[in-house]
Amino acid sequence: MPYYDYQCTICKNIEEEYRAIEDRDNEGLCKKCGGKTHRVIESPAVVFHGSGFYVTDHRDHDKGEKN
Ligand SMILES: [Zn+2]
Repeated sequence: MPYYDYQCTICKNIEEEYRAIEDRDNEGLCKKCGGKTHRVIESPAVVFHGSGFYVTDHRDHDKGEKN
């Protein structure tokens, strides 16, 4: 099951929670103050993984041509 970041709308505390994909947009409860939490989109992490994947793929392709 993937995990997502949820931020409290009251105290702004961010916690990671494991959720099923169909439940990821549901509200949660803050463990600190009991307020409602909503999902936070992590765009920097997605950009980093995409870049690394491209470099690995390019190296494998280059090696194959030399052999
Ligand atoms: Zn809170």
